Amino acid sequence: MKAENEKYCVNCGEAIDARAEVCPKCGVRQPTEYAETQHFHAEPAPKRGLNERWLITLLLCILPCIVGINGIHRFYTGKIGTGVLMLLTLGGCGIWTLIDIIMIATNQYKDDDGIVISYSE
Ligand SMILES: [Zn+2]
Repeated sequence: MKAENEKYCVNCGEAIDARAEVCPKCGVRQPTEYAETQHFHAEPAPKRGLNERWLITLLLCILPCIVGINGIHRFYTGKIGTGVLMLLTLGGCGIWTLIDIIMIATNQYKDDDGIVISYSE
């Protein structure tokens, strides 16, 4: 019989202590409650929703450059150094800004921490 503080061994099916990490009968390691919880949370969540940060980065790249201000999106994503450089060079005469727009739009643009900013959350 399985008591309340017991569980069944994943290998041999013997009722063992619920807190046991290893089955005393067959010696097989048991999945812990913690691991099960982690596994549950690790289930791939359905991808939905537009990444707000991506949208803001894209808009900050496109909109100010229309009036000749480039690199605002780089400040927003923590790339201050290249942001200043971009501002001073007018986005590399627009070419650099154009490249960044393409990079952002195609999910290849990375922030200062090297994390890709993609359109979906
Ligand atoms: Zn066992």
